[in-house]
Amino acid sequence: MADVSILIVEDEQRVAEILKKQIEEAGYKADIALDGYIGKKLAEKNKYNLIILDINLPLINGYDLCREIRKSDSNVPVIMLTAFGTPDNKIEGFDAGADDYIIKPFDFRELLARINVFLKRSDNTSRSSDKLKLADLEMDLNTKTVIRGNKKIDLTAKEFQLLETFLRNKGKLLSREFIIEKVWGIDFEAATNIIDVYVNYLRKKIDKDFEPKLIHTKFGFGFYCSETKM
Ligand code: CA
Repeated sequence: MADVSILIVEDEQRVAEILKKQIEEAGYKADIALDGYIGKKLAEKNKYNLIILDINLPLINGYDLCREIRKSDSNVPVIMLTAFGTPDNKIEGFDAGADDYIIKPFDFRELLARINVFLKRSDNTSRSSDKLKLADLEMDLNTKTVIRGNKKIDLTAKEFQLLETFLRNKGKLLSREFIIEKVWGIDFEAATNIIDVYVNYLRKKIDKDFEPKLIHTKFGFGFYCSETKM
């Protein structure tokens, strides 16, 4: 597995650096974020193969950060690493979208064994799941690129998320509420016409110069993505 990169979000610098060193010795790359905000920015900017996440963090705690990460990348394995070990803590962690939970103090060999299980699992599934396709449109979730026909299409981050939501739900009628929740987050209070504005941006880029049209409006219900009209 070449170029596996792992994000460590941990505010105890000494712990973070030991982890980074051990992960690098195991042959992977590692970045450190010393608070939740930097963790969020790095997770948005880079495609990590796995994220190790402390819970008690400055600025954004691990639970909230995990929810944020899940909004934009539903597949990246997240291992929570924390001194909070009650069943309630664990349940909250899993509810927030964590895949595993390790209690401090821990043995690095155990963490490494779990990291390897997740990496192996995602290596087996990534070949089929890191590209979304419809007609002659192809979206690469790793490189964040979109191609239609032979033309590369530049999308903003929100347009990309919107298109990803459409492609992951192709053939299904999506309400404005569903789209807002997936793309903008459940606590986003928007005029729902923001969806129409963004759908129009997206149509200009991926549908205007191409056939067949892929994004359709079902008046009074919402939108759907399909090669044919439903
Ligand atoms: Ca901490």
